Amino acid sequence: EAKRAGRDRVEVFDHRIHQRQKHRSARESALRTALGAEEFRLHYQPVIDLRSDRVVGAEALLRWDHPQEGLLLPAAFLGLAEESNLIVDIGAWVLRAAMAEAAGWSGDDGGRPWLSINVSGRQLAHPDLLLHLDAALLASGLDPARVEIEITETVALHDLDATQRVLTAVRARGLHIALDDFGTGYSSLTWLQRLPVDTVKLDRSFVADLLSPGGRHTPSIIGGVTALAHAMGKHVIAEGIESTQQRDHLVELGCDYAQGYLFHHPAPHGPFG
Ligand code: C2E
Ligand code: MG
Ligand code: MG
Ligand code: MG
Repeated sequence: EAKRAGRDRVEVFDHRIHQRQKHRSARESALRTALGAEEFRLHYQPVIDLRSDRVVGAEALLRWDHPQEGLLLPAAFLGLAEESNLIVDIGAWVLRAAMAEAAGWSGDDGGRPWLSINVSGRQLAHPDLLLHLDAALLASGLDPARVEIEITETVALHDLDATQRVLTAVRARGLHIALDDFGTGYSSLTWLQRLPVDTVKLDRSFVADLLSPGGRHTPSIIGGVTALAHAMGKHVIAEGIESTQQRDHLVELGCDYAQGYLFHHPAPHGPFG
């Protein structure tokens, strides 16, 4: 009796693993054709200057308009795109599409908003990244100084020297560099010190902890990171602001810019017409 129940459980378990693998390989083959089928979209989330409350830029965020499943967030396919190296071609499309879009933006004060683009570890390690960047800049005519490339700390981990070289080349073109999800990796201060970055994007987990009972040291961490970044001549963007209390606290702690649902959700078109 017990043995039989155990065997049933194993079979159910096997079945689930099998289903999951089937789903995964179906998704991977769909991902292979998605670029040619023009199923990728970009949404844009505005970045706010906390001193003036004005929108000063926007971050491009990748979406996949899956023919059966509808609009998918990166969490549903980015891992697969990375493992299969498809992210290199998808990423080249992101650079081109985002820069083409941003070329048409102008702020309400006539100022020129900036564009942030996420670049993953695989892209950064790929020899064609600089070619893709140059092609996108040339095709769009966008001023490189209006473009910021966002990298995460996990990216740099494999090979700090190689990352340093690529980022130096990116920066030599006049683009800016942001360290995304800052504070979630193991050696945040090493990256901050060694990599040529202009901006620190404070991970949204810090913002979420600000007003939580477990977050009693969080204001010190945010204030400290902000002071450190400023002392190094860098700006700080806080991610994931959902309430006015969080915003007020971040202003008090000296953060320069902010993104979050409180201000704007990501949307299909840039915030600048
Ligand atoms: P990220 O670069 O840290 O982007 C911020 C994420 O937080 C976005 O999720 C955004 O929609 C979400 N977010 C913004 N405001 C709030 C808020 O107030 N509360 C909460 N809970 N979330 C907020 P999304 O669009 O799902 O993107 C997830 C991650 O996927 C990005 O994190 C980035 O690492 C990656 N990604 C997105 N687009 C691209 C891309 O074009 N290329 C590459 N390589 N990675 C991308
Ligand atoms: Mg980002
Ligand atoms: Mg982030
Ligand atoms: Mg993130």
